[in-house]
Amino acid sequence: MPMFPSDEPQNSSLLAAARSLKQLGTLLRGRVPILRAVTVTAAEASDPVVRMALEAVARDVEAGNSVWRAFAGQELLSPSALELLRTAEEEGALDTELTLIAEYIAEQHSAATAPPPQRARDDVLAELDAAANALAHEHALPLAPPSADARAATPEARAAARLAAALIGRAAAVEAEELHIDPRPTQTLVRCRVGGALREVLVLSPEAGRLLAAAMRSASGAQAGGRTAAYEGLLRVEREGLPVQATVASASSPHGEKVTAEFLPPGRRLDRLDGLGLLTTELGRLKESLHRRKGLVVIAGHEGKGAMLGAILAEVSSPEVNTIALDLSVTGWLPPHVTTLRVPRRRSAPASGIQAAMRHSPDVLVAGSLADPAVAQACVGAARDGMLVLGWLTVDSAQDAVARLLKGGMPREELLSTLACIVVCALARGVCPRCAASWPATAADLRGLELPVPLPEPFAVRRGAGCPSCRSTGYRGYVGVYQVLNCQSDNPSHHLVGLEGNPSGLLNNPDGRSLSQVACIKVLQGETSPEEALRVVQSRTTR
Ligand SMILES: [Zn+2]
Repeated sequence: MPMFPSDEPQNSSLLAAARSLKQLGTLLRGRVPILRAVTVTAAEASDPVVRMALEAVARDVEAGNSVWRAFAGQELLSPSALELLRTAEEEGALDTELTLIAEYIAEQHSAATAPPPQRARDDVLAELDAAANALAHEHALPLAPPSADARAATPEARAAARLAAALIGRAAAVEAEELHIDPRPTQTLVRCRVGGALREVLVLSPEAGRLLAAAMRSASGAQAGGRTAAYEGLLRVEREGLPVQATVASASSPHGEKVTAEFLPPGRRLDRLDGLGLLTTELGRLKESLHRRKGLVVIAGHEGKGAMLGAILAEVSSPEVNTIALDLSVTGWLPPHVTTLRVPRRRSAPASGIQAAMRHSPDVLVAGSLADPAVAQACVGAARDGMLVLGWLTVDSAQDAVARLLKGGMPREELLSTLACIVVCALARGVCPRCAASWPATAADLRGLELPVPLPEPFAVRRGAGCPSCRSTGYRGYVGVYQVLNCQSDNPSHHLVGLEGNPSGLLNNPDGRSLSQVACIKVLQGETSPEEALRVVQSRTTR
C-alpha cells in the first residue's frame, strides 16, 4: 500500500516515513551524494517497513536507476508523489521536493488522527445552545427525560438533543404539519410546514445541522438513512396537556442526513393499539390473543413493525406485569414498566440474551428479530413455558413468516402449539385530508385487490387532487394496513392448520382477512386510494 496519501493514516509507519524523507531531503541539501544519503537514512529509520524500503531504494540507485524509479519500486509513495519526485529529479530539486512530501504526509497524518480543534467544537456548541435558548424562550416543551445514552453523550450531542426538543415543541405549538431538517452544501435549513406553507425556522452550520438531524432521529428511534420509504420513528410531545405525535423518517442526501417529522392530526395516536388503525375485527382478534398473555406473537412486514410493537407493549405492560425487552431496535419509544436488558448478542451464542432474560422470570419478553433459528427456537421454548414472547421478522407475509421459522429446523408441532398470532404490518400513504375528493368507482377500480364482500356499484373511493399541504401528491401521512392471524383461538376455525400439503398457503384462516382485503377496506373507508393500496399489496408476494 502506498503510504502517501495513505488509506491507513493511523499507521505509525507513516510518520516514520515522513521523518526519513525529511532527513533524506536535508542530507541532499547538504550535498551528501544520493547513494550515501539513502543508505544513511535507511540505517537510521526507526520503522522496519520504512528501513527495508529505503534499503531497496539504495540498491536500485546503486544499480544505476533514477531516484524516482527506485522509489516507484517500493510501495512507499503514491503515484502522485512519485510524479512530483520525477519532475523534481529532472529539475535537480529533489531535496526540496522530499521535504515538501514529508511535511505533507505528516500533515495528513495529524489531520486524520487529531481530535477536531476545540474552537470548532465550542463554536458548534454555542450555535446549538443559542438556537435552543431562542426557541425555548418562546415555547418550552420538553421531550422525554434524557436516556442513559443521552446522559453519556458528548456536550454537543446533548445540546443538539435540547435544540431538537425545543424545535419539536415549537412545531407542535404552532400546529405544524411537518418539520424538516434539510442539509445543503454550506448550511442546514430547518423548516416547518404550517397551513401548507413551508417556513424557515433556523439556518445552521452543516456541523450543527448534522448533530441536530442525529438528535431528532434518535429521539424518535428511527434508523439513520431509513431502510424503507415510510417513517420509522415516533416522537411524542404534549401540547396544552394533550398528546401530539409525529412520525419521523431519515434519508441520506448528497449533503448529509435529511430528517422529516410529520405531525399526526390532533388526537391521532400511534402509541396505542386502538390508535394504529386496525380494523375492528383484527383489533379484537389481536387483543384476544394478547390477553391470553402467553405464546409467541410474530410481528411481520417491512414497515410499521415499530409502531405495532410499541402499541402491543402499551396494551400488555403494567406495573404487575414483568416486561423485559432485549431488543428495541425497531421502536423508538417505550411505555412505562418495560425493563430493558442489555445483553450483547454473541455470534457464537445468539440465544444467550434470551437465556439471560429468562433468569428474570419475565411475563412478557421482547425478543427482537426471530431471523436466527437459535433465537426462534429459544423463543418458542419461552412461549411454551407460559410467557408472552414478542418477536419480529422482515418478511412479506404470514406464510413467509411461518416458512422462515420452520426453515431453521423448528419442529412443526412445537411452533403450532406455541404460535399465538401473526400480525402482518404494512403502511399505505393516506389520502390528503385537505384536497380529498370522492370519486364514483366500480370493482374495476379495485382490480388487483381482493374485495372482502361483493359491493353494490357504484361505490365511492377517495383521492387527493393535490394541494400545497401535500406538495401536490394527493397524499399525506400513512395509514396502517394490518392483517391479524390468531393462531390459538377458542374458535377452532382460527387454528393454524395444514402446514403441509396446502399449496394455496401454509395458513388456514377461514374467516380471517388477507392483507389485500384489509387494504381494500382501507380504500372503501376513504383512508387511502385504490392505486396506493394496490402498490402496497403488489410490493409483496402475498399468496
Ligand atoms: Zn393535498
